[in-house]
Amino acid sequence: MFRKIKNIIDEGERFLITTHIDPDGDAIGSCFSLYWVLDALQKNPFVYMRDKVPYMYEFLPKPPKLSYHEPPADSYDAIFVLDCGNFLRVGKGHERLKAQGPLVNIDHHTTNETFGIVNIIEQDSSSTAEILYKLYRSLNIPFTYNVAVNLYTAIFTDTGSFRYPNTNSDAFLICEEMTKFGVSPSYVAQMVHENHPKERFFLLGKVLSSMETYKNDTIAMALVTQEMFHKTNTSKEYTEGFVEYVKEIRGINVAILIREITDQQYKVSMRSKGNTDVALICNHFGGGGHRNAAGCTIDGNIMQVKDRLKEAFAIL
Ligand code: AMP
Ligand code: MN
Ligand code: MN
Repeated sequence: MFRKIKNIIDEGERFLITTHIDPDGDAIGSCFSLYWVLDALQKNPFVYMRDKVPYMYEFLPKPPKLSYHEPPADSYDAIFVLDCGNFLRVGKGHERLKAQGPLVNIDHHTTNETFGIVNIIEQDSSSTAEILYKLYRSLNIPFTYNVAVNLYTAIFTDTGSFRYPNTNSDAFLICEEMTKFGVSPSYVAQMVHENHPKERFFLLGKVLSSMETYKNDTIAMALVTQEMFHKTNTSKEYTEGFVEYVKEIRGINVAILIREITDQQYKVSMRSKGNTDVALICNHFGGGGHRNAAGCTIDGNIMQVKDRLKEAFAIL
């Protein structure tokens, strides 16, 4: 399965590693782990992500060669696009990247658009990091702490701390193995879950107060506005995990967090319990994701966005 990638790595020298905008733990841990693997193979890797690493992932061993905002202009022997179902989600400048090297697409989203020259899409994998672990094993690469803690954190966060239905036996086996390379589960959990600035909770209070429920309390929507960010001196990185609180309510099948980008554009995050496929709904709005976790961007004012969402759920 990894033969083509092995050849690309063996024959190449300069590699770009990238992922999706608003990077989560899997996006970051996957990119950083691959950086450390290629670095150990004495290659010349470089990581680019449009958005900066959110504060809760700052403890991860970071590549010295990492840039944000604008893709670098160089050309590469391959461009690894990790955890990214849709090439557009690499963000501004992604089109230009296509001409800078062959794209290697490694992902686990059900909605992946197979935009690479090589596409490794494993929808049953808990995370992109799980696929990468298998790649590293097949390349016979020795694991170091830098690789292990990035893989562990990616799997830990993409499984919702081993709570989501994508928590499979490989997720546990890989994470258990990573502890042998020095990863401390309690340290990672503390960094991810117990290291928030107090402003996050002032923001959370406002967001939870905005919550409305629909369809006999089976769907809940909460809203984050630019005004809330201003009042609490926070930004979008403070909202990671907010949608999970909404999902904790008894009887809720779908939790929705609507975040204002501008007053005419909103980012929507959805989480579901059981069989409700939110990727399908987000796909309808031009987004995507997984059955139980998906996202999209919807244009319009807040009333229009809420109405379009309610309409989409009315047919469920
Ligand atoms: P989020 O709600 O942004 O945390 O995303 C939940 C899941 O859906 C993640 O796996 C994302 O990578 C994916 N996702 C979010 N937004 C989009 C989008 N616009 N297009 C495709 N996938 C998305
Ligand atoms: Mn992701
Ligand atoms: Mn992922």
